[in-house]
Amino acid sequence: MSITFSTTASSKTTPCRWCEEARQELRAGAQWVQAVINGEWIKEGQVVSEDQMKDVRCDFHCRGTITESIAPEVNLATGNARSLFGLLGLAFEEGGEIEASSMMQCVMVALNSDRSGAVVEPSETPGGHAPSRILNVDGMPTIQRMGPPVVNMGRSDDSIVCRLTELRTLAEWSINNSDGIITWG
Ligand SMILES: [Zn+2]
Repeated sequence: MSITFSTTASSKTTPCRWCEEARQELRAGAQWVQAVINGEWIKEGQVVSEDQMKDVRCDFHCRGTITESIAPEVNLATGNARSLFGLLGLAFEEGGEIEASSMMQCVMVALNSDRSGAVVEPSETPGGHAPSRILNVDGMPTIQRMGPPVVNMGRSDDSIVCRLTELRTLAEWSINNSDGIITWG
């Protein structure tokens, strides 16, 4: 599970460049183009007229346009987001919104405060350590250890500073280019 921070007016819709590439190949007379027209793959050697070009799609699912974000986004694993909210002095919620100026202040405070409580050292738990169960084998209680090895990548102060800096960039972008509201969810 992850949480993405973004700001409104943060996407733009552009023509799909893969569809456009397929059209260019067809116009160039390519014998075999991997593309779809009116819900069917274009066959080898099939001629597509200029009138039909607008119906050419790179794939069945493509609608001919791509919506892409032009605002910076910050994506965090939920556990990291929870820890970051603590640093920011905000109550953790899985979705919500905050004024970008408030977020900026929270980030500046967090960048200048003691973050050691949020740092997690990397750790490794060998296989068979959690959980275990006791089985009765031929009348003898026997411990069976279960579970695969677990590697926790940890969370370094550098990575925390990096996320905070990304949030600051998003807040600045929101103030300068959008409505000054940051949403997450
Ligand atoms: Zn496409």
